[in-house]
Amino acid sequence: MAVNLTMPKLGLTMETGKITEWRKKEGDQVKEKEILLVVETEKITYEVESPASGILHIISPVESEVPVAELIGLIAADQAEYDKVAAGGAQPAAAAPAAAAPAAPAPAAAAAPAAEKVVPITAAKSGPAAPAVDAKSINVVVIGGGPGGYPAAIRAAQIGAQVTLIENRDLGGTCLNRGCIPTKSLLQSARFITQMKTAQDFGVGAGEAKCDFPKAMQQKVKIVKRLVVGVGSLLKSNNVKVIKGTAVLNDASTVVIKETNEQIKADRVIIATGSVPAKPSCEGINLPGVITTDDALELTALPQSIIILGSHIFGVEFAQIFHSMGVKVTIVESGPQILQGEDAELVKSYANQMIKDGIAVITQAQVKKIAAAGSELSLTYADAGGEKTVTAEKILCGGKQKPYYDGLGIEKLNIKTAADGAIIVNNAMQTSVPNIYAIGDVIGGLMYAHVATAEGVCAVENALGIPKKMSYRAAPRCLYTTPELAGVGLTEQEAKEKYGQVKIGRFPLVASGRALTLGDTNGMVKVIAEPKYGEVVGVHMFGLQATELIAEAVLGIQMEATVEEFGRTIHAHPTLSEGVMEAALDVEGLGINIPAKKK
Ligand SMILES: Cc1cc2nc3c(=O)[nH]c(=O)nc-3n(C[C@H](O)[C@H](O)[C@H](O)COP(=O)(O)OP(=O)(O)OC[C@H]3O[C@@H](n4cnc5c(N)ncnc54)[C@H](O)[C@@H]3O)c2cc1C
Repeated sequence: MAVNLTMPKLGLTMETGKITEWRKKEGDQVKEKEILLVVETEKITYEVESPASGILHIISPVESEVPVAELIGLIAADQAEYDKVAAGGAQPAAAAPAAAAPAAPAPAAAAAPAAEKVVPITAAKSGPAAPAVDAKSINVVVIGGGPGGYPAAIRAAQIGAQVTLIENRDLGGTCLNRGCIPTKSLLQSARFITQMKTAQDFGVGAGEAKCDFPKAMQQKVKIVKRLVVGVGSLLKSNNVKVIKGTAVLNDASTVVIKETNEQIKADRVIIATGSVPAKPSCEGINLPGVITTDDALELTALPQSIIILGSHIFGVEFAQIFHSMGVKVTIVESGPQILQGEDAELVKSYANQMIKDGIAVITQAQVKKIAAAGSELSLTYADAGGEKTVTAEKILCGGKQKPYYDGLGIEKLNIKTAADGAIIVNNAMQTSVPNIYAIGDVIGGLMYAHVATAEGVCAVENALGIPKKMSYRAAPRCLYTTPELAGVGLTEQEAKEKYGQVKIGRFPLVASGRALTLGDTNGMVKVIAEPKYGEVVGVHMFGLQATELIAEAVLGIQMEATVEEFGRTIHAHPTLSEGVMEAALDVEGLGINIPAKKK
């Protein structure tokens, strides 16, 4: 049967789209995923791919303005079918079923022909979408109780499924126990030390700021415990059955608890087993004193000096924690900049500040070996100037974590993985086994708690018949040091690669009244817009409260806001958020509180 080609929904508010170009002609043989046509809305231009291979029959010509979801063409399977549809003798294909049947759960989102660019994670404004399958009859088993797994379990319970969550360590996963929360508690200790120095400029003094490391660690434990208990209560209040144990996949629909041999029937499985710290392979990497972030969070005393090997965000956060507490810190990074993947201009200013504060930063360094050097460790690396050595009491591996599923049994089920070990999923979060989904760090990509949560919600909605596609377009990336650094959307380089010329606006916090009153004007907001409509495609910032301010940019990018919409929105004064408005205005040279650009 011919496959329908419909006007895609390219934005939350889009009602119609204009066809500006057909890249293929009537009667052309086309391949699945080939670009067929170009659609323009008031905000974007979009290339629409073919949903199937076959022969193209065009229904809506160039210049037509077509409502979302209306038929614009058909892809006939063969010549005989094409002859019929072209002559108007065949009916368009029936619409794809909204959801999977329980027995064959291929989510419609995964197979939906018309590309949907922006998909809200939550239900539509009118209220939660009604599941198309009877959720009450479905057993969902979530493996892992981190920020991917526990929200997935809660969302599945909200939809009405029978949910079991299996966790072999502590609820909250890496995030609560060994990641986001403990590091943020220690960074707050570090921030107090910096702030107490600034307080003296404001006429407030309480003697010299000193760090009581064991006390800082105790506070971290207290906060973690409280949140872990909170997750347990949330799961209980949603009637999620929690099993403490190690899950093993026996077959696609049976999960076994390793410690007790209990067998659990699982119509849908959500793998949310997360990640574990990774050490790079290098001579001497297993020497005592070479530690991971997990080990760093269990230290009982501060070292005199530390080398942070790799500068992923967590490595940089630890660099600042230790530096603020009086430890001599050296970051050794193999790439051209620390914080690979973040906007180069901002990272340069940010790194300069770190260096000014006293952290040594070495980039483009190829690590050769680690060796014992008396009571210390020496790290030998090569850069453009030849081989060099740095020494320290400890070396902390501060690179990316590695996806974890040891002993889970995914190999037996033929669940496909990528070269870096991440489980491969489609945009409905479904693995190569149809009723098994995977989310969070175990699928690699953007390894953040909030991304894991969004993926978890997306996965269970698809698993329970509410088709959703995962979109990472407006996923923020945050670093909680002082100054903070945050970004969403494309970096300048990525935007240039995608759009050619782009428009950029900047606002330095030195021009912010609020930053001055807070005693820290170090920082900048940068807004990147595509050239045609002025849609904001990236916002990057460093400075005070950047990780909070980024939320405005996240929402703006999610809603496809333009620089005008950012710049004309009234922001309270004096606030740091005025910096976002000013940077947006600066894109067109209309900033009010920065000197006029020379014409
Ligand atoms: C030092 C550090 C700081 C971080 N800071 C931040 C931050 O500030 N913001 C941010 O967004 N992200 C941060 N992250 C990343 C964040 O912690 C992860 O992205 C997030 O925890 C991933 O969630 P997850 O649910 O996929 O996996 P995890 O949180 O790793 O949870 C997986 C859970 O599954 C359990 N499990 C594994 N296998 C099994 C099994 N077979 N049976 C039962 N249970 C099993 C594990 O014990 C674990 O509890 C940080 C990470 C680190 C290491």
